[in-house]
Amino acid sequence: MSSRAFLIGSEIYRISSYGRRHPLAIPRVSATLDLIRAMGWLDEAQYVDSPLATPEQLARFHDRDYIAAVRQAEADQHVPADRRARYNIGCNGNPVFPEIFRRPATACGGTLRAAELLRGGGIVYSPAGGTHHGRPDRASGFCYFNDPVLGILALLDAGLTRIFYVDVDAHHGDGVQDAFAQDEHVFTLSIHEVGRWPYTGRLEDRAGGAALNLPVPAGFNDAELALLLDEVVLPLAARLRPEAIVLQGGADGLADDPMSGLALSNRALWRVVGSLMGRAPRLLVLGGGGYNPWAVARCWAGVWAVLNGIDPAARPTAQAEAVLRGLWWNRSQGRDPPERWFTTIADPPGEGAVRDEVLRLARMAMMGIDGMKSQID
Ligand SMILES: [Zn+2]
Repeated sequence: MSSRAFLIGSEIYRISSYGRRHPLAIPRVSATLDLIRAMGWLDEAQYVDSPLATPEQLARFHDRDYIAAVRQAEADQHVPADRRARYNIGCNGNPVFPEIFRRPATACGGTLRAAELLRGGGIVYSPAGGTHHGRPDRASGFCYFNDPVLGILALLDAGLTRIFYVDVDAHHGDGVQDAFAQDEHVFTLSIHEVGRWPYTGRLEDRAGGAALNLPVPAGFNDAELALLLDEVVLPLAARLRPEAIVLQGGADGLADDPMSGLALSNRALWRVVGSLMGRAPRLLVLGGGGYNPWAVARCWAGVWAVLNGIDPAARPTAQAEAVLRGLWWNRSQGRDPPERWFTTIADPPGEGAVRDEVLRLARMAMMGIDGMKSQID
């Protein structure tokens, strides 16, 4: 295994925005990269600029007429009503914006580059990736294309036969689960908030044995995530013996995030990342949701530290504090940010006990896995 991790990014995320009022109208990848550099956590030899995925590469999963429609939307900056309805672009949180094709195609290019870098093994982090709701023929949930699916397909095309996808975003990883529901080489696991959009991913939904869903209650805390990690995710990883683990590391389950009712600290997500290291010869870590710029940047910069064996619970350097003080958020929560969003990287350790319903969820999930032995062995 290669000992050094790679970080994939692009400057396109600094200049591109979904539009002023969109939840993604915040600095995320650019803030993460700036914070990582300001902390002194990046050797520039580890940094890889993301290429733009070609329409041909996107067509490995997406329909050609849909790809053409997104490119046309970028050229025209407008989508006629019939295409809006057919492709779900220009509506439902999937706006037309100046880089509507190039931005998601860059995220896909980054994940495809990651798959290449992982051929012989190693660790790659692409925080712009993780667009797990994208569908073959339409946009969904702020996701135009589905880079996790394309990355997993690239790993399969390279000859891998056992891939474990773990999704800790607050929303169900529906697009990835559905893409591989018929593929015995890919097992998808999603931990997400119960009763939240897209309203799929119930515990009973096993995608014919190719998936496991852990819908968790509002208030889901660090101790509860640690329990699911130790009692379900890691035992499953041991049984699957994956050749690659793909982690969708959405940050919208953090207590500071406005889009979910989950109450995690960034330390809990870092523990997931650290625990998955070494469980497979290849680890691809992606981003995902995350709608508070301070929470996202601190969490994802810390993910990179963990992947490099650095303790992320460090005090920000003067430059890092300047990066954090320079962020902005067009929301009421951003008007008076607490001081700790500028002066700490790590959140305070999460509080709370493991509730009975989470214990029950872990038990029922493992019973379901035991019933699916043939799938796994
Ligand atoms: Zn999400």
